[in-house]
Amino acid sequence: MQCSAKIYNSGGWGRFYPCKKKAVGDTVFCKIHNPEYIKAKTEAKEDKWRAEWKVKRAYIELQNTAVRACKEINPDNPLAVAKSLAKMYEALKVAHRELLHAQWEDGLDQIEAALALAEAHNET
Ligand SMILES: [Zn+2]
Repeated sequence: MQCSAKIYNSGGWGRFYPCKKKAVGDTVFCKIHNPEYIKAKTEAKEDKWRAEWKVKRAYIELQNTAVRACKEINPDNPLAVAKSLAKMYEALKVAHRELLHAQWEDGLDQIEAALALAEAHNET
């Protein structure tokens, strides 16, 4: 039996034409026109979109929080605060690299050393 779905030909004459694929199993639809398949596919797409939006929203929230924090620290020049935080971020990145080779109890020393290193690096 042929699939009973009608496909809209948007590129041509704007008419519906029947799907030429064979119906699968005891359904009257081919694989891609099966309502169960379409539903599952739509839900998967929505789940992916929701997950992506969640990450995006968390990122925006993080950005807003950072901006608010910078304004709280220095309302006249939040950008200066943001720039100093970028230095801190770089320092922590160096510290993290160092920590991978260090014992946890050495962590604070490593962070201090990394901060000094990053500061020296930024001054040159
Ligand atoms: Zn079909």
